[in-house]
Amino acid sequence: MRRIAVCRSGAVLIALASLILMLSRAHASPSIAHEVNLVIEPDDASIAIQDRFAVSGQNSLVLRISNWMTLSEIRVNGTPAEWTRSGNLHRLELPGRGTHKIALTASGVVSGLDMKNALHRSGGAAVAAPGGIYLPGWSGWLPAVAGHTSAYSLSVVTPATYRATATGALKSETLGPESNVSVFSVRAGIEAPSVFAGPYVVNEKLNGGIRIRTYFHRDSVRFAEAYLNGALAYIRKFEHQIGPYPFADFAIVAAPIPVGLGFPNLTYVHRRILPLPFMQGRSLAHEVLHNWWGNGVYADYASGNWSEGLTTYMADHGLAEDTGPDRAREMRLGWLRDYAALSTDLDRAVKSFVSKKHDASQVIGYGKVAYIFHMLKHEVGAERFSKAIKRLWHDHKFTAASWRDIQTTFEATISRPLDWFFQQWIDRTGAPQLTLKDVKAAKTGDVHRVQFTLSQSAQIYRLKVPVLIGTENSEKRFEVEIGSAEKTVTLEIKQPPVVLQIDPDNSVFRRLLPDEAPPIARDILLDRTAAAVMLHKQGDLQNASRALTERLLGRRPEFMPAGHTDPVAAVPLVVQGTTAQIDAFIVAADLPARPARISGAGDARAWTVRAQSGKAILLVEADTPATLRAMLRSLPHYRSKSFVIFEGGRAVNHGVWPVSGGPLTKKF
Ligand SMILES: [Zn+2]
Repeated sequence: MRRIAVCRSGAVLIALASLILMLSRAHASPSIAHEVNLVIEPDDASIAIQDRFAVSGQNSLVLRISNWMTLSEIRVNGTPAEWTRSGNLHRLELPGRGTHKIALTASGVVSGLDMKNALHRSGGAAVAAPGGIYLPGWSGWLPAVAGHTSAYSLSVVTPATYRATATGALKSETLGPESNVSVFSVRAGIEAPSVFAGPYVVNEKLNGGIRIRTYFHRDSVRFAEAYLNGALAYIRKFEHQIGPYPFADFAIVAAPIPVGLGFPNLTYVHRRILPLPFMQGRSLAHEVLHNWWGNGVYADYASGNWSEGLTTYMADHGLAEDTGPDRAREMRLGWLRDYAALSTDLDRAVKSFVSKKHDASQVIGYGKVAYIFHMLKHEVGAERFSKAIKRLWHDHKFTAASWRDIQTTFEATISRPLDWFFQQWIDRTGAPQLTLKDVKAAKTGDVHRVQFTLSQSAQIYRLKVPVLIGTENSEKRFEVEIGSAEKTVTLEIKQPPVVLQIDPDNSVFRRLLPDEAPPIARDILLDRTAAAVMLHKQGDLQNASRALTERLLGRRPEFMPAGHTDPVAAVPLVVQGTTAQIDAFIVAADLPARPARISGAGDARAWTVRAQSGKAILLVEADTPATLRAMLRSLPHYRSKSFVIFEGGRAVNHGVWPVSGGPLTKKF
């Protein structure tokens, strides 16, 4: 049985799916060494294979190969053999249980890219497109021998105009005037080899025994250097955090199909995504890290896939932490917001997450699991967390690990049980919800006492909740442990308290209270009831702004007439106008005043406000059609932000409004 984990790698906004596939590993079964010769003919999208291997100790052989491939001959010890076929299974009898040399030939035509086919769009099937041919191992282009794991020596032959690469280590390469031949070695236990061929320009960087390559189309070659340097930097960063990079090669391959897929020692990325900064940053780091988590230590899917969450935590969140604590806090808040948006009937226990089938499973398998590792780090301490991570790698490299193995590794590192932690976060569905009440502050002698009651709803969690008390010119941090429905706490400080904040850095995974999170663009854009208000009066401004609104909402919304502020109370809105028109609208609709950082900044602006009714509104302000057209390209990438400021078509500043109040904050 094969397992597929779909990994959304990268920006929240572009649906870049990444597939990580693992064959289920039959550890006890014998491994077969295949010698495969693959000839790719791009002109007619045909492939031809010869596969040689030996089997012993069995009377018969079952081969599985995809239906679009035709097995033309099977020889056993040099003699042509007869076989029977049932669907994609081919069965032949062997002359006794001794060792037999099998040689087979097969060929097929790879189907052309069909964007109506979901398997083509997701990278699940072999595809021939104008920019290249894609043969994923899981599509079954290569015969698999039932009941065995396989190692491969794979030779790929293409015309001289094409270059090919594959999962596995590159052993040799011969570039000739007529054809190119590349030979790869694929270790047993890793999935069947995937092959990628195209009219590629190859760039390479060799460093400390690792060969990093880009296989890009001519129009993307200018990005090769950035990818080679970026990949090397991430490999070195994660080696330091986990252990030596487990492969000899790493390749970034441009895909002619709209995917972003992770494979062992390779990532296959849609050629149009390659120029985007998030791909060169966060997504590349994420894909590089999967060489350790997912393709180095495999997730034991029967007990839940932890590898996406750990990869998200160490790569995506790790990069955010490198930028600064605000970015990391903002990322965690984003995960909490996603979880808050998840309806309870779609909520699942972490142990049931296998792969990202839809947004709901991503909220659990990526965001919540990443949060769990963040809390685990807090629970055991940064130093011991790092030790346990290295130990997990050392003990489970190239084998499967379960959540139970992770628990055991952390328990062994800190010498105390963590049953309670894993039980409440992995086995249980849901999240705690914290509320704050009965806040009092009083002065006794020289000290100020702040007393409050923290309570949690429904299921009780054992939590360490950070608490901040701000004074006129400083702040003091505390930690409150709560393991019951309610706890009254008294904290002492020397200065008069000005503000009390529960969980100021979003350290605890919990269900946000209503109004706890500042509005972001997504609150409006994901709401099917959201409408639009057109304040622009000129035709060309109206056209550009209508196109932008439709792009943002992904549909044609109902446009309310200008000057019509009634809907402000009823539905979320996208409001577009010039600076003067937006100012007038703010007054007429009684919205919060224009924030200081928005006033006069850049040449176009978009920001969120919350109306008195509680509905969120996205204000989009631009004075010329040209600036609106520039926003059409960029603004859709900032759905997770509260504000974006544009200058000359580029986003020069963006962010999420700080939480200045909310139900877990009390000002004195
Ligand atoms: Zn992933």
